[in-house]
Amino acid sequence: MAQVLESGQLTMGPKVAELEALLAEACAVEHALVVSSGTAALHLAVLALGLGPGDEVLVPAYTFPATANVVAHVGAKPVLVDVDPRTMNLDPERAATAATPRTRAVIAVHLFGRPLDWEGLRDALPESIVLVEDAAGALGARRRDRPCGGLGHLGCLSFHPRKIVTTGEGGAVTTPDADLAQRIREMRDHGIDRRGDFEIASPGLNYRLSDILCAVGIPQLERLEELLSARERLAAAYSERLSAVAELPSAEEGDRHGWQAYVVQIDRRDEALRALREEGIEAQIGTYALHRLGAYRDQRPFPGADRCYERALALPFHTQLTESDQQRVCEVLLAVVADR
Ligand SMILES: *Cc1c(COP(=O)(O)O)cnc(C)c1O
Repeated sequence: MAQVLESGQLTMGPKVAELEALLAEACAVEHALVVSSGTAALHLAVLALGLGPGDEVLVPAYTFPATANVVAHVGAKPVLVDVDPRTMNLDPERAATAATPRTRAVIAVHLFGRPLDWEGLRDALPESIVLVEDAAGALGARRRDRPCGGLGHLGCLSFHPRKIVTTGEGGAVTTPDADLAQRIREMRDHGIDRRGDFEIASPGLNYRLSDILCAVGIPQLERLEELLSARERLAAAYSERLSAVAELPSAEEGDRHGWQAYVVQIDRRDEALRALREEGIEAQIGTYALHRLGAYRDQRPFPGADRCYERALALPFHTQLTESDQQRVCEVLLAVVADR
């Protein structure tokens, strides 16, 4: 960061390219473009695909709302699809049922870092439907032998503080497609084509990530494996203690979980949440059931999403967590269950 400040080039400088090269490598994909947030990444992905009025985009009913918000914002229709309550991820069969001739894309989420059944989803849908990956919480995760964030026609990453690599705010779009990469590069920068005469062929936005923030991300990305291993150890420690009282998160055999969050499912979740908070332990619900929000209330029912929304509990999870912290969390949870 000091280097960036001394250089005077605070944005669009060499740190952007350096972080992008590391991301492309981590996701095993040709192009990575850093942007100002995960939401900006998703917005640019739907814009780059030219989605708009009359188009439908499948999104999971249980996800962080940005996944659907960006679709609504370009005038296309986010069509909610229920999740499998066991994996909390999009159900490929239900996606196939929800697809219509107007369906142009699906934004598939690896929720909390658990890799989605990618091949199952691809096989369930017609070739003409583009698969966009919301890998906001899945940097470092692997689906079989391939890194998440590099599976789709477009992939979207977030560097929000709740993700494994953070720049405070930040994100990236990945793609194997050179034309899409160029369109996104221009669109994040007002639409300017910096390769030639600085023409603006179509209007863009300012979704750039400053070099100061890229400098924050670079060393974290260099030790991504170390960060992920630490999270794997923490997840295993929770799982060992909680197997008798909660449904535990896991990845499919042969996959690697990205552990963006450690989210169990438990009966009478609200009671457990209250007990943790009374002990000064900051826990949270998992994420949102979109059909329960004013913006998406017209679509229902989604029993899988309802079940997750009512039962998911995100436990404290970060690499500074100590063994005694984890023990305290588990003691409170075990006491709540024993009390019933
Ligand atoms: C964090 C997250 C986002 C949004 O990313 P921001 O960087 O906060 O804009 C979108 N989708 C999912 C699944 C996320 O976890």
